[in-house]
Amino acid sequence: MSNDAPGFFGSYGGRFVPPQLETPLAEVAEAYEEAIKDPAFMAEYEALLTDYVGRPSPLFKAQRLTDELGGATIYLKREDLNHTGAHKINHCLGEALLAKRMGKKKLLAETGAGQHGVALATAAALVGLECEIHMGAIDIAKQHPNVVRMQLLGAKVVSVESGGACLKDAVDSAFGVFAADYHDTFFAIGSVVGPHPYPIMVRDFQSIVGREAREQILAKEGRLPDVLIACVGGGSNAMGLFNAFLDDADVKIYGVEPAGRDLGVVGEHAATMTLGSDGMLHGMKTIVLQDEQGEPTAVHSIASGLDYPGVGPQHAHLKETGRVEYVHASDAETLEAFQLLCRTEGIIPALESSHALAHAMRIAPGMGSDEIIVVNLSGRGDKDIDYVAERLAELDS
Ligand SMILES: *Cc1c(COP(=O)(O)O)cnc(C)c1O
Repeated sequence: MSNDAPGFFGSYGGRFVPPQLETPLAEVAEAYEEAIKDPAFMAEYEALLTDYVGRPSPLFKAQRLTDELGGATIYLKREDLNHTGAHKINHCLGEALLAKRMGKKKLLAETGAGQHGVALATAAALVGLECEIHMGAIDIAKQHPNVVRMQLLGAKVVSVESGGACLKDAVDSAFGVFAADYHDTFFAIGSVVGPHPYPIMVRDFQSIVGREAREQILAKEGRLPDVLIACVGGGSNAMGLFNAFLDDADVKIYGVEPAGRDLGVVGEHAATMTLGSDGMLHGMKTIVLQDEQGEPTAVHSIASGLDYPGVGPQHAHLKETGRVEYVHASDAETLEAFQLLCRTEGIIPALESSHALAHAMRIAPGMGSDEIIVVNLSGRGDKDIDYVAERLAELDS
């Protein structure tokens, strides 16, 4: 396949799926292309972003954090203030509206810790579609509150007992249902990953984040930021912020992935960009943490939204071209950053977003006070407080 084939970013991306999924995914791509050219569709989407999600999200100057670190001025893009508390609702609403436009009855997805499942169940309730979420049995036991949320929102949560009963098995299970029943269902992927058109479609629905941030920083400072920072799991909040700045060569861009407990031990981190290699995962060619047989390895992060052994193909390409620099933050650095933001700004950040903050803490002191960093605060941390309290108690004892 050539590099300018649809859905490729350089040599990454594409659509590598079993033959029975080729047609349904081509239909999604075609419907998406039509929808984004339809002013009525975009107007409905944008009205919901305003009135339902609460956009635009503020770009907040974190003055006490800036003073504490003593260098560059730090701004936070407050995706944590969206309805449902994170950026995921931006693309879930887009996918739900597209499914409805295509005449589908049901939204279908996998979820790991449940964040994507909750955002999608929310969008399904709003738009008036059924919702079926596949979740590993082990994750169901660990993430009880999110299971309850999805059920309250009217979703059916399917417990996946096969394999390791985790995210990877939930993906396989949901794909199986989609292949059998694609006439009535829409597969709604939770990040800029998977086969074409999902990496492009999810990026486009998230790109509102960067467009707003660009306008907001120009209004406040009269110029573009020097640095952008976002955490990278699959990479949707990062692509959402980065997309509007990719052509601005003077804006330095960092993606931060989880170094977990130990970068030297397989299964103790999820540093895909740092330690992965080219491979195939979930219908795309990308960078993958894999063993010698090409099977994805076990991963760990203190932030469950980041423990994915792959990354969106556009990120793999942005690494290859050098436009974005990918760095990592450990669980310990992330906990430090989490606490610092709580105490300096009265904001409890998601552990995922705290990875991006950790990198800001690292570089801000070495930058000039006339320089500007924008950090994407992808979500709020209320979901993480019990876990953080346990970890801090462990560190104390
Ligand atoms: C899911 C999640 C992430 C990771 O997903 P991306 O696709 O990499 O953005 C990051 N932050 C929060 C708050 C999340 O819920």
